Amino acid sequence: MAEYRVGVLGATGAVGQKFIHLLRNHPWFKVTALGASERSAGKTYRDAANWVESTEMPEDIAKLTVTTCDPARMDVDFVFSGMDSAVATDIERSFAEAGIPVISNARNYRQHETVPLMVAEVNPDHAELIKSQSFDPNGRGFIVTNPNCVCIPLVLALKPIVDAYGVDEVILTSMQAVSGAGYPGVPSLDILGNILPYISGEEEKIGLEPLKLLGKLENGKVKFAEIPIQATSVRVPVIDGHLLSVTARLSKKPGDIEEVKNVVRNWKNPIADLNLPTGPDKPVRLYDDFRYPQPRHQSLAENGMQVGMGRLRASNIMDIAFTALGHNTIRGAAGCSILNAELLHAKGYFHS
Ligand code: NAP
Repeated sequence: MAEYRVGVLGATGAVGQKFIHLLRNHPWFKVTALGASERSAGKTYRDAANWVESTEMPEDIAKLTVTTCDPARMDVDFVFSGMDSAVATDIERSFAEAGIPVISNARNYRQHETVPLMVAEVNPDHAELIKSQSFDPNGRGFIVTNPNCVCIPLVLALKPIVDAYGVDEVILTSMQAVSGAGYPGVPSLDILGNILPYISGEEEKIGLEPLKLLGKLENGKVKFAEIPIQATSVRVPVIDGHLLSVTARLSKKPGDIEEVKNVVRNWKNPIADLNLPTGPDKPVRLYDDFRYPQPRHQSLAENGMQVGMGRLRASNIMDIAFTALGHNTIRGAAGCSILNAELLHAKGYFHS
């Protein structure tokens, strides 16, 4: 069994806590170092973190002293990053330059030419971009990112359809949970009994990140997919789970909607044979009952790693319409990173 000493950057935040929760019994990765801001450094994790997970804070983690996010202070094999994006650029680079791989949730390097933007089941081949990175001349340190928490359920739901028919354009509305805004996030008086019709910066990411994820690797570079995506992102009074309402125009016309349903049901997960510890048995589940999926009831399917797809139907205007649900801090953030790291281990990218 491989065992890696792992650091978590941004360990006190919403995503950082989810890393600690999800890694508590991980067979390969053991959290041994925690990084956060000057505000938290020097405190034990118990004192520094306002723990919002529903399981107890793991005792061995509670006793660790939080440090600043400095590679010289964290003696680890690699780090997961749930850093505030306002500070992630220099910090993540400093780890990669020091020979410590960074598996990041932050947006800062997602569009960097040599950095994979990866959802393990969608574009595992993009890991190859790591070979063209030059952060660390010794080739040990690198950066791999995962996308925004809406893009993950979107591309997982679209992937079978893109493979079978091609997709020409997409219009979607994302109804996003409050945990997506981090902790303490949106003031309760703004969101209780309300919907906020705008989330700053979100629609731009949803318009761009899927194009890299669904792009093809050609001569060592990603050739972006060409799919115009128009998104409207709203914040809804739900704790966890982003629900998307998606309409798509397809390049090749399907026979009928049953055929499309079978394409989704029969899609073959390209990394299924690796049996990765965090990998769901079924990354996308299509619900036939039009009442599902719902954030409160289906977000935690397959430990929060399964994307639920529902209401798949013919569209009056384009070709198909459907809903997609993803747990935003698990599948949409920490769980996606952990699965990416498991894939990188399986492909031999880590040097322990
Ligand atoms: P958050 O709850 O606000 O946590 C931010 C973390 O960054 C905290 O640990 C904070 O430490 C740390 N930090 C802030 N300033 C720092 C500094 N100068 N140096 C070092 N650490 C610093 O945010 P979050 O929701 O967990 O999001 C973290 C990242 O993941 C963001 O880039 C976000 O865009 C991305 N993301 C979030 C979600 C989601 O659903 N929440 C989904 C996908 C991606 P202190 O406690 O010490 O201030």
